Amino acid sequence: MLTMKFGGTSVGDTERLREVVTIVRSHRSRRLVLVASAMSGVTNLLLETAQIAVQRDRTRVAQNVETIKRRHLDAVEALLRDPERRDRLIRDHERLIGELANLYYGVGLLKELTARSLDAIASFGEVLSCSQISEILADHDIPSEFVDARKIIRTDSQFGEAAVDFAATDGNVRDLLLPILDRSVVPVVTGFIASTEDGLTTTLGRSGSDYTASILGAALGCEEIWIWTDVDGVMTADPHHVNGAIVLPAISYREAAEMSYFGAKVIHPKTMVPAIADNIPIRIKNTFNPSHAGTLISATTDLTKRVVKAVTSIDNLSLVSIEGNGMIGVPGVSARIFSALARGRANVMMISQSSSEHNICVVIPQKDCSGAIRELRSELAADISRKAVDDIKVMDDICIVAVVGEGMRGTPGIAGRIFTAVAKAGINVVAIAQGSSELNVSLVVKRAEERKAVQAIHDSFHLA
Ligand code: ADP
Ligand code: ASP
Ligand code: MG
Repeated sequence: MLTMKFGGTSVGDTERLREVVTIVRSHRSRRLVLVASAMSGVTNLLLETAQIAVQRDRTRVAQNVETIKRRHLDAVEALLRDPERRDRLIRDHERLIGELANLYYGVGLLKELTARSLDAIASFGEVLSCSQISEILADHDIPSEFVDARKIIRTDSQFGEAAVDFAATDGNVRDLLLPILDRSVVPVVTGFIASTEDGLTTTLGRSGSDYTASILGAALGCEEIWIWTDVDGVMTADPHHVNGAIVLPAISYREAAEMSYFGAKVIHPKTMVPAIADNIPIRIKNTFNPSHAGTLISATTDLTKRVVKAVTSIDNLSLVSIEGNGMIGVPGVSARIFSALARGRANVMMISQSSSEHNICVVIPQKDCSGAIRELRSELAADISRKAVDDIKVMDDICIVAVVGEGMRGTPGIAGRIFTAVAKAGINVVAIAQGSSELNVSLVVKRAEERKAVQAIHDSFHLA
């Protein structure tokens, strides 16, 4: 059994959807579970339109709703041959689009847009996309059934990026999908969306359809989880930003997790979690080039060929530094800092502390910054007033460049090569961190130098 996930570009227009049919047909000898994303660009448009709806710009909302409707109906009209099936699906799509328009209207009336309503709005992308994929397959003689993941994947109510309740979910996956598979029917399950115990719509975080695929693949004990996307596999760097990036035939779960956490958007970082637990290999494949072997992500990695596997980067980050002589040798300061950051709901991406303990700096997403600073200032108010802590400084517009590879462990000279490469490119390094796992060396540089830094390191390790 295989779980196959198709990303937004792979289901984004008539031609790509035809390719999905071809790919599914060529793997029909195995039991297949499909997961798909919204058509490319639709989730962004749904969310942007929500912002416009709060401003009550009803004309633009109506235009965008029409654009979303047209995108889907164009595909349906081009691909569904059976008129009855086509008319039924068009009616279903129109009903969904009507519900979406009502939601936007409600958001405008209330002038309130919560994370909960954003998830409800975003869910339309996957529902429209997967319901049409299922009908397209059926129309091409591949029996299939649309499955709304909100019936199976249970989460908490952290809207925007909810946490999965595996105890409830795994049983649901088997109860709902196995009978469909037993009838030799291909379930087409919505990626990205889920629901709370009370039936409220949640999402698993942007790009979360990859995670959906591995939740299902692991619960069903699939042989492999395949992620179909628009590049040949996981590459030594983002091919759209770095010259000479090449495909990595095999990497480990840990390398994949580390790379994706630090910006390699080709796979969502959480995807590896369910797969590791059951040791299920993940394969990244290209719908534009299906015969390419892609990248195999598994428990093992090739340590002989490459010490450094890839260079990645992530931006829209801020560096927050807390400095002061009064922090030296005082137990509990770090604990208070990190508790304050947690209260401010800041996701700490990187930590670095000088050994004198005079300075602690953390890197967090820029969007989390104001909440984090508020909590830190309140936690450290007394320390600041008695000058034990100087102040809390924030540097915006920075990025983390991460150099990843299991072979770096115990290999001397890697850090030297990294820093020589960035120095030669004339780039100033703001902060550095290396975990004791030695799987990753991370450096903070100004956002304006992100591309140059990644390219310089990529070139210096001859990754091409
Ligand atoms: P999908 O819609 O199929 O989920 P995504 O856009 O989320 O596709 O992910 C694929 C994109 O990831 C590629 O087009 C590429 O630009 C980007 N990417 C970033 N880093 C890497 C990398 N190291 N290897 C491959 N692709 C990468
Ligand atoms: N459609 C969702 C997004 O754009 C999920 C995904 O594509 O994986 O974030
Ligand atoms: Mg993706």
